[in-house]
Parts: sequence; C-alpha cells; structure tokens
Amino acid sequence: MRVLLVGGGGREHALAWALSKSPLLSELWAAPGNAGIAEHAECVPIAAEDVAGLVAFARERAVDLVVPGPEAPLTAGLADACAAAGIRCFGPSAAAARLEGSKSFAREVADAAGVPGPRWRRFDDPAAARANVREQGVPIVVKADGLAAGKGVVVAATVAEAEAAIADIMESRVHGAAAGASVVVEECLIGEEVSFFALCDGEAALPLGAAQDHKRVGEGDTGPNTGGMGAYSPPPAFTDALRDEAMARIVRPALAEMARRGAPFRGVLFAGLMLTASGPRLIEFNVRFGDPECQALMLRLRSDLLGALLAACDGRLAETGLRWDAGHSLVVVMAARGYPGAYAKGSAVRNLDRAAAVPRARIFHAGTRAGPGGAVLADGGRVLGVGATGGTLREAYEAAYEAAAAVDWPEGFYRRDIGHRALR
Ligand code: ATP
Repeated sequence: MRVLLVGGGGREHALAWALSKSPLLSELWAAPGNAGIAEHAECVPIAAEDVAGLVAFARERAVDLVVPGPEAPLTAGLADACAAAGIRCFGPSAAAARLEGSKSFAREVADAAGVPGPRWRRFDDPAAARANVREQGVPIVVKADGLAAGKGVVVAATVAEAEAAIADIMESRVHGAAAGASVVVEECLIGEEVSFFALCDGEAALPLGAAQDHKRVGEGDTGPNTGGMGAYSPPPAFTDALRDEAMARIVRPALAEMARRGAPFRGVLFAGLMLTASGPRLIEFNVRFGDPECQALMLRLRSDLLGALLAACDGRLAETGLRWDAGHSLVVVMAARGYPGAYAKGSAVRNLDRAAAVPRARIFHAGTRAGPGGAVLADGGRVLGVGATGGTLREAYEAAYEAAAAVDWPEGFYRRDIGHRALR
C-alpha cells in the first residue's frame, strides 16, 4: 500500500509513526512533513493546502491512499479531487467538511439530527447580535461563523465582552472577511470538556477514544489560547457509558443526517463535548484528528491504523474492531518562547535521543526542520510533543516530564501541569 500523508505537525508525526507500523504499508510519503516524520516517510515539498499539487503527486507515484491530517485541504476539496482522480482519500468531501468549516451549518445538522447542544442563533447583522446578547444575558458564547484557527470563539462573562467580540468579528473582521460575515451566539454550557473521536465510513462509526487537552498557554489553564499545550487519554470523567451515549446520541445521528443530505461523512469525526449535568452536549464538530489529542490516542492504539483507515474508505467499518492499550498516555507540548505570540525560528533542539531513551516515552516533532549535520531546528510555534504511556496517568505523566526535561532547548518552554485536572 502506497500512502501519502498530508501535513507537517505533531499530529501527522503520530499518524506517520502509526502508519509505519502497518504490515500493509509499502511506501509512505509526507507533504510537507517535518524532521521527525522524515524517520518514517519520504518528505516532499508540497504544501498541505495545495490540492492540485497533492493530487498530481499522488497520481504520479500511484498512491493508493491519501491521509489528510489538517482541515484546510479537506475544506479545500482534497477528498473530492482524489475521488475524481480515482484515488482513495481518508477524509470527508468539502460538502461534509462544512461540519467544521461553518459553525452554523454544524448546528443546523445537529438540530436536525436531534443532537443535544446549546441554544444558538446565527446573525448577519451586528446590531441584532448585540440585542440578542443583552436579551440572553451572560455568560454567553460568541463565535465567528467561519474558520478562525481556534481564535474565533469568545466565552464572555460580561455583556461588554460579548459586544466587543461581535465588533471584532463582524465590524473589524479580525478573523478575515469571510469568517466574520456572520456570528453564532450560543448558550454557555457548563461542565468538563472532552474531545471524542469516531472513525466513520459514511454510514457506520467506531469510537476512536477520547482525550482532554489544555488550550491555554499558561499553567493552571491561564493566558491566551493556543493550538494546544498538552493532552492525555483516556479522560477519567468520560466513562464507557458516556462514550456509548455520545455514539448513540451525537455521532450516529449526525452521520445519518449527513448521509440524508447527500454528503455522507467519511473520516475522523471529532466531537468537542461538554459533560453537563444532563449528559454530553455538543460544543463543536471537527473533521479530523485533534493536535495534540491524536498523539495521545496513537500512543494507546494497538490495532493497525492503516487497516482501519482502509476499512473506513471501503465502507467496511461495521465489521472492524479496534484494540487499545488499557493504560494511559500523556503528551506535553514544547513551544518556542513567545508562542502563541511572536517567536523566533531556527534555534537548535538537542538531546532528542536522550529524551526518546526514557522508558515508555516517544517524541513527536511538530514545527521542526532538519539542519546541517543532523541537527534539528525549531521551525514553528509548537515544536515538539513529548509523550509517554503508563499503567496509570501518574506514570505516564512522570515519564513524559522526564523525557521533556532531557530535551536541551533553552529557547523553548512547556507547561508543567498537563493532566492536572485528572491527577488532582
Ligand atoms: P475556531 O473556529 O476559531 O477554530 P474552535 O473550532 O476551536 O474555533 P469551538 O471549539 O467551537 O471553536 O470553541 C472553542 C472553545 O470555546 C471550546 O473548546 C470551549 O471551551 C468553548 N466553547 C465553545 N462553545 C461553547 C459553549 N456553547 N459553551 C461553553 N463553552 C464553549
């Protein structure tokens, strides 16, 4: 099986590692990849958003399966372009990827499917949105309708904050013209947040496990939002009964509704859930793995990932099962000083061998590139994901932090409290 993996972050390194263990794999390429992915795949300099370039490469190399990591190529139609070229792609069509690309579309689908979620309304007019905020009261959630790289959501504790968010999104268009054309104003759900993943083949779905991540840059979950500073799996609050409820009330009804609309969903459905007093409720859908949740999940997956992705592509999930490590995993993200604000690139990241030698630890590269003489250079905001497994979450935590401490990178930093809610 000849596979092209799309992306170059920590999530894609975890996928490359998992794919490389498959007996079905003959060749693996990554576009554009990174210095860690290069241990498992041949990296090719094609941007993850370059749909035409990716499909041309896949044709030229007779690729059997394309595996997109990030959402951008999916919303740009990579799966559709692959289908037109007769190449399997593990990911949703652009029509199905709207579940992530448009928050109001996701809410409409969820409502039509009877999925539990917050009360919500969409507004094209800022004055109407402001009036709705004043009527609903606080706390309240204001979201740019389109994609805003994780920065388009404000959970407002005061009316002034909510009104400022509406002005930023719709009037100043801080997330761009398209993303700010409309806002979604939502009831604020209270509870513990969990990222739940399901493997979908358009009709059937298999649970892929759950994780909790830490979005804020600072310890104690303080400071600005980031792409994610760490994650752990499984979340203790997410029992098997809650997983079954999430499959029955959220994932399967949403899949059935998408199929009914003529846009069957194939790929990873990522349901951001709030575990409220009245059960799990949907915060958002994403159409791909989370980063760094994917790293935490791949550390626990015992089954052949490639076999499972092929089963999803071929509509065979109903007869497929997945095996997981009964233990725990935890991933600590190391980021460049300054992230999520401005940061420098090009510093050397040393002692990765020493970190990887810590028992049960595994190092995932995110923003790295190869430098001269085998050096690894920082090339992004989030640079490494240092992960580990353990029989208990505490064991995983200790191994991951021992490995992180072994990395010699004075220009980087990491949070020391990943997993604190579960470890408390
Ligand atoms: P973007 O579109 O900018 O990429 P996103 O996809 O990360 O953003 P969401 O996941 O919908 O946006 O929201 C981000 C965070 O805001 C959630 O992880 C959650 O903590 C909080 N949030 C969103 N909606 C609600 C809600 N209705 N109630 C409470 N908290 C919410």
